[in-house]
Amino acid sequence: MRWVQKHIEAIGSGWKRWRRGMRDRWRPPIAVVPSTERPAHLRPHRLYVTSQQGQPTFGFMVCPCGCRATLHLRFFGARSPRWSVVTDATGHPSVTPSIWRKTGCESHFYLTRGRINWC
Ligand SMILES: [Zn+2]
Repeated sequence: MRWVQKHIEAIGSGWKRWRRGMRDRWRPPIAVVPSTERPAHLRPHRLYVTSQQGQPTFGFMVCPCGCRATLHLRFFGARSPRWSVVTDATGHPSVTPSIWRKTGCESHFYLTRGRINWC
């Protein structure tokens, strides 16, 4: 009966993916909010970006999966992990490479022009 269980799990995760995709489609895109330091309170659909001498240094955002964890992104230095952020004319960020939480919810997604694309 193992394959049955596997099959059910596959349907379950497919459904979860689909539901998450639908939810993201109706969500507002993520907008960049320049900040001077790590914000004490983070609102969803925002990427808070601190900078130094015009260069982005850190990014903070609420995990888009709904787990409410804060994601920390570093935009400088040689050490990994390190991301790059580009903000388009409408204020929507693209972050590369993909964002992958190795703990907790283990969310893995691309943030492209303010949109979440799940991996
Ligand atoms: Zn999460």
